[in-house]
Formats: sequence, C-alpha cells, structure tokens
Amino acid sequence: MLLTLTVMHEPAADLGYLLGKNPARCQSFPLSFGQAHVFFPEVSPSRCTAALLLDIDPVGLVRNRRGPSGEGHSLQQYVNDRPYVASSFLSVAISQVFGSALGGRSRERPQLAETALPYEARLAVLPCRGGESFLRRLFEPLGYNVATQRHPLDEQFPEWGDSPYYTVTLSGRCRLHDLLSHLYVLMPVLDNDKHYWVGDAEVEKLLRHGEGWLNAHPERENITRRYLKHQGQLAKTALARIEQDEGESDNEESTQVEEVIEERVRLNDIRLDAVQTALLQSGAKRVLDLGCGEGKLLRALLRDAQFTEIVGVDVSPRALEIARLRLDRLPLDVQARCRLLHGSLMYRDGRLSGFDAAAVVEVIEHLDPPRLSAFERVLFEFARPRAVVLTTPNVEYNVRFETLPAGSFRHKDHRFEWSRSQFQAWTNGVAQRFGYAVRFAPVGPEDEVVGSPTQMAIFMRIEAIRTRK
Ligand code: SAH
Repeated sequence: MLLTLTVMHEPAADLGYLLGKNPARCQSFPLSFGQAHVFFPEVSPSRCTAALLLDIDPVGLVRNRRGPSGEGHSLQQYVNDRPYVASSFLSVAISQVFGSALGGRSRERPQLAETALPYEARLAVLPCRGGESFLRRLFEPLGYNVATQRHPLDEQFPEWGDSPYYTVTLSGRCRLHDLLSHLYVLMPVLDNDKHYWVGDAEVEKLLRHGEGWLNAHPERENITRRYLKHQGQLAKTALARIEQDEGESDNEESTQVEEVIEERVRLNDIRLDAVQTALLQSGAKRVLDLGCGEGKLLRALLRDAQFTEIVGVDVSPRALEIARLRLDRLPLDVQARCRLLHGSLMYRDGRLSGFDAAAVVEVIEHLDPPRLSAFERVLFEFARPRAVVLTTPNVEYNVRFETLPAGSFRHKDHRFEWSRSQFQAWTNGVAQRFGYAVRFAPVGPEDEVVGSPTQMAIFMRIEAIRTRK
C-alpha cells in the first residue's frame, strides 16, 4: 500500500522538515502489523514528494489476531485485501511514522506547519465502499479536488465489472496537519471494513483528529458511525445507546449486522412484509420464528392479533438479549404473546412441536451444508408445523449490489448462497422427503436476468392441506 504526499512550494524540500524525515534517506519503521518505509522519490526546488509504503505481514496479522478472523473460512485470514489497500492500518502507520506532523508540530519549521500550502495526496488503492459519490461527499466539503481512477475487478475478465477499489488523488491548499488528519479519519471510513486499531481510546482519537472539521462536516454522522464500528466494547456501548434511543423505528440491520447499504435495509423490510403476509395467509395462530435474531419479525408479528403465540428461537444469546430488550418496551399484554427460546436448529427440540407455522428467515445460509440434513429433520420431521416460510439470498442477484465485490457473499458468516435452481432443488427434495407441498415467491425488486434479491419458499404439510376443510 502506497501513499504519496507532494507539496508544491519553494523550497519544496521543507517537506522533509514538516514530516520530520530526511529526504536523502530511506527509512524503515517496524509496526505491530508489518513494516513502514518512508522515502522521497522526488525532490526538486518546487516539488517534493514523500512516500509512505506499508508492507503488511498477513501471516503476522493472523498470529497477532489483528487481521480478519476467518470465521470458519480460515483462508480469509491469510488471503484478503488488507495488505494492498488503504485502511485503518495506514491510519495507524501515519500516526506512528508521521506523529508530529499529524499533531501539527514541527521542530524545525513551526511556522510552515501552520501554513496552508498546495498539497497533493495520492492513495494507490483506496476501497470506497459506498461508491465514488460517497468519496466525494467526504473530501469535497473539506476543500479538496478529487480525482479518481476506478479499477476493474480483474482486467482479464471485464464482464466481472468494477471493484470497489480506486486510485485517488486529493489536491488542495491546506496545512499538512489537516491533510493527515483527514486521511487518518476518512480512510477507515471509506474502507468500512473491520478496523484494526491499536489501543482502545478510539472515541478520543476520533475527537482529537476530527477537531476543527468533523463537527461541521455534512457527513459527520456517517463518519462517526463507520469510524467506530465493529469494535468490541465500543460497538456494544454504541448498540446499547441505539437501543435506548431507537424507539420502534429500529434499524438494527443497518447499524449492526451489515454495512450501510440502503437498498439492503429496504430489502429487509420488504422481506419481513412478505414473510408476515405468507404466515397470515396460512391461517397460522401459533408461530415459530426460527433464527429470530434480534426479533424484528417477532415485533412485526405481534402487531397482528391473528398471532396468539409467537416463539422466537436463536442460538445466539447476544441476539436474544437484544430481542428481549426490545420486547420489554412493548405493553405487557402484547409481550405476553411472545416467548424467546435459546436453542439450536441442529438438535431435535420438543419445545418446537405443535405450532401452526414456522418462519426461517435468512438462516439456512448460516448453517454448514453437511449439517443441513440435521436441520431438515428437526424442522420438517419433528417440529412438523403445518406451514413453513423460508427465505435465503438469491446469489444470482449479487452482481446487482454495487458495493459487493464479485464472488463475495453478502455476509461474512454465510456458508453458502444459492442460485434459484440450487434453492429449488433443495426445497423440492425436502418437500418430497417430508410430505410437504411447496411454492416459490420472489422477494424484492425482480430483475429480468438475475431474479429477485431474496428467494422465498412456502411449504404446506400435505396431510394438513387434505384435512383442512
Ligand atoms: N431471522 C433474522 C436473523 C437472520 S441472521 C432476520 O431475518 O433478521 C441468522 C440468525 O440465525 C442469527 O441470529 C443466528 O444466530 C441464527 N442461527 C445461526 N445458526 C443457528 C442455529 N444452528 N440454530 C439457531 N439459530 C441459528
């Protein structure tokens, strides 16, 4: 990963003093995640360029547990974009290698550190999740000219489309301290991946490096949210606050689970609507929500008096805790119609018998394929509700998500994502083996070529259909 900083000012070699680095030397600095090299590829009277080259050690990241966890896909621990793109690692490198300049200090040229000069910063590869317009919304209000070059996913396969990676050049007249602070905060915001910060005082760091510009920035909310995301305790604290402030207009999907892709948030609502309608049409009164997560569907179902008993089941205690907190805000008589159970869909569970219907929304893709057959028996053989409404992503649609790199799943924990034919083959097999009839419905905007983003199957137990009238 390469960042170059150019100043157009005479004598340009002053950049060495401003950065506290001798332009005549090439220096290396060991960091906890690799090596940073600083050198000056260009020093002329009127232009001087300093380069910060980051050589991230992917194996070291795994050993230090600073890199992607792999979460079951252990190859991702080793093979990922972290060594090649501007991310929070580069922010950390800036603060460690150019600490004084970032803080606005220069022993040799204090006046110059306070002076706005024409600078140009070039980031060889910047992931812009949120697209070019988001990139511009971040930097243009700060007075930069933004020039970009977007890179295809693979030059050999143009039909795969573009990647989220850009070469970005920012130019503007500012103080070096401003430029470095903007980069420090905004690179991880654009990257929007898990951040690997060193130390834990992140809120303070954000406030310090955002001082003087963040509070007036039109995107300050997005910046703050993305900057602080995915950080253990902090994320929890933030979540707790969200829970308190959120009221019924909850948006857990956008704040917690995945990236802020508005389309997806809308899709989440469309999906819950579709599932609720299918459950209503099945005539069910007592329903299960299997893999209920944080309970959004549970709360939607509670608004409908047809559902007299609603039971949410999930394997994640954390998700259930959040679901509980949100249910606790409802009137007591409404709460009384809903229970939460901790359990795994991999194991036969007597508590799941005797229900009219079950919803299984965006859950099967979290199960390991070899264990799907265990799940099938738990649901269709033992629990055996009259109706089952089940959804899963349609992988064909992924090419329509602009910010999703080709070949990636929509969520890091997905074990698979199926095409329509794969889903139908599995579903028809299940229906046949366990005595259910099934029909399919698209959910979300339907594309002529790739179908809809979510696919839904509605199963009805055959003997129930026969004995219903
Ligand atoms: N149905 C919710 C959540 C989907 S995310 C919604 O549509 O928003 C998938 C959920 O399945 C997570 O909450 C996860 O904890 C749960 N899950 C994954 N494996 C499970 C298992 N074996 N048993 C029960 N729940 C499981």
